[in-house]
Amino acid sequence: MRITAAVLETSGGSFALRETELEEPRPDEVLVRVSSTGICGTDLEFATFFPTPAVLGHEGAGVVERVGSRVTSVAPGDHVAMSFTSCGTCPLCLTGSPAYCRSFDALNFGGRRPDGSSALSLDGAPVNGHFLGQSSFATHVVATERAVVPIDRNIDLTHVGPFGCGLQTGAGGVFNVLRPSPGSSIAVFGAGAVGVAAIIAAAISGCSVVAAVDVNAAKLEAARSYGATHTVDSSVSDSAEALREIAPHGFDFVIDTTGRQDVLRTAVEALGPLGRCGVIGVGPSQEMSFDWRSILNGRTVTGIIGGSSLPQVFLPRLLDLYAAGRFPVDRMMTSYPFERINEAIADLRAGKTAKAVLTF
Ligand SMILES: [Zn+2]
Ligand SMILES: [Zn+2]
Repeated sequence: MRITAAVLETSGGSFALRETELEEPRPDEVLVRVSSTGICGTDLEFATFFPTPAVLGHEGAGVVERVGSRVTSVAPGDHVAMSFTSCGTCPLCLTGSPAYCRSFDALNFGGRRPDGSSALSLDGAPVNGHFLGQSSFATHVVATERAVVPIDRNIDLTHVGPFGCGLQTGAGGVFNVLRPSPGSSIAVFGAGAVGVAAIIAAAISGCSVVAAVDVNAAKLEAARSYGATHTVDSSVSDSAEALREIAPHGFDFVIDTTGRQDVLRTAVEALGPLGRCGVIGVGPSQEMSFDWRSILNGRTVTGIIGGSSLPQVFLPRLLDLYAAGRFPVDRMMTSYPFERINEAIADLRAGKTAKAVLTF
């Protein structure tokens, strides 16, 4: 079928809306008409080096139009959120950890199906897609069944897209991995969309101290409205010193959403004994480094992908919290019509919005 997709024609370039051809879903695939898609930092990161032509986008939500012959979990008309895909048969998938699937990178970042084909083509030539199980910068998506999560039809799809990656990542890092007990302390580095999701999750978990660290004063002010009890503007103050004042014996938990080496070092050193650091940001730094004494007294540094979520279980729970008004993330989203994708990306890069959402 003919669809419209935002095609990345050269790495590092902008996106161009093009009429592309989308194959019918195969037996284990689902055709989804996209209603909204968030734009995530990972899209911007991959747009700088992903082999082109390509269609990115991985925070899609929409309505199922057709399903492959072996699909049983959704049917045409169902409302769905989309998330990462996984093989479903490796030991990690079978034990409920698909975010750590042995085939995760090949399936989510390979640009093609495992057999080398792509559902997308332009002027008869294949286009790289299947990005994180979907490639949602398009009016329609052929997603794997494992990337699709049926959701409550009463929830407005406009704000659902970002739940599949950024919000799941931030909230899941807290709810699924760090699991802070009531009364504990946490510092969240980076108050963008992922950080805000972590802050709300920490507040819901009953953390008595929720410190947000960022360089953007407006984001820090917003963080307070989501449950941060303290804020640290590291552009004007020494964040390590400020954090020591907030938690003199160190934090029980810290979470880094920035992926910056200097920030990670500050985060780990802000921990108290037995403290845990969740690393969830993919950022500019290739390495992390800190003094070995920083982790000697029982501290743990753990990487977290996709909030360590089983999307089919976790996303409906997160959306229940959203529907109940306890996870009010729609407040930080700015909607843009699909055609204005490049403007949305520019605004996101400039920090004018915490979360850009394309609507169709
Ligand atoms: Zn697997
Ligand atoms: Zn993402």
